[in-house]
Amino acid sequence: MEEILPRLYRIVLPLPRNPLKEINSYVLTSNNRNLIIDTGMNRPECQEVLDAGLNEIGIDLEKTDIIATHYHADHQGLVFSLLKKGSRAYMGESDARAMEAGSTTHARKIPMGDYAALSGFPNDVLLEAQKNHPGFKYGPQSVVDYIHLKDGDTFNIGEYSLTVVETPGHTEGHICLYEPNKKIFFSGDHVLGDITPNIQAWTDDYDPLGLYLTSLKKVYDLDVELCLPGHRTIVKDIRKRVTELLEHHRVRANEVISILERGAKNAYQTASEMKWDIVAKSWDAFPVMQKWFATGETIAHLRYLENKNLIQRDVSNGLIFYSTDGTKRL
Ligand SMILES: [Zn+2]
Repeated sequence: MEEILPRLYRIVLPLPRNPLKEINSYVLTSNNRNLIIDTGMNRPECQEVLDAGLNEIGIDLEKTDIIATHYHADHQGLVFSLLKKGSRAYMGESDARAMEAGSTTHARKIPMGDYAALSGFPNDVLLEAQKNHPGFKYGPQSVVDYIHLKDGDTFNIGEYSLTVVETPGHTEGHICLYEPNKKIFFSGDHVLGDITPNIQAWTDDYDPLGLYLTSLKKVYDLDVELCLPGHRTIVKDIRKRVTELLEHHRVRANEVISILERGAKNAYQTASEMKWDIVAKSWDAFPVMQKWFATGETIAHLRYLENKNLIQRDVSNGLIFYSTDGTKRL
């Protein structure tokens, strides 16, 4: 546990055998109510460190509310276990609705598994990936009745006055929290310093990467001196980081176009030809979950490029293929 500013603490929770390595839980305290932002996965390694940190800070959980920046298991897996009589849990509206429906893909025209198959994801790998997905393994033990948050909602915790900033992209209902007087920004998984937030698409219903890039530009306009992300190290210069993330996605999108220039491909085939920061001899040697996340990221780029009319879709033999005439770049 570390005190970042007076009555603002960070507890770093371990995520063993997970490439994210750790997750940051932030705690704001006051003489009346306290607030926890993000909680870690529902697994003992997170719970022990979180309990110890909260003990050290010495807060009364009955006077403590919890905000999850989004529905991923590493951010809200422990919300249920922290809730006491008198405490409230909050989440962005769209993510909260997805949780209530019991599935984060409830509203999709095509279920996620079917969409993965359409994208060329092999059936046996798909079953393996679904079994190992952290969302299934480390989600909350019971349903949480989340209060829905919208852009502009505010929280006052002692000297801190937080405003909700909707930042769809990483998830459809992702939110950040902005403290305009102290120029602090709790960025969840929207802006990370050491790693690139994972933007996945498993649907035709909307364009997650397009939303994400718009949300990045929205954040760029805020006056921020301290960006507190959901994972790893604190970001000092948010505008520099946003600029890097925008450029990263431009380069990746162009990489996708170059791959399609060599012939039409489905998302799984495209992902297998992209460069990834994973230590493995070949695509076939990738761990199953990494194949899943890589394909989801690739679909996000394909959907984005399709939306911009830079590539074309064809469906043949039950698979979605993308192609390009190679004349356009981002
Ligand atoms: Zn996340």
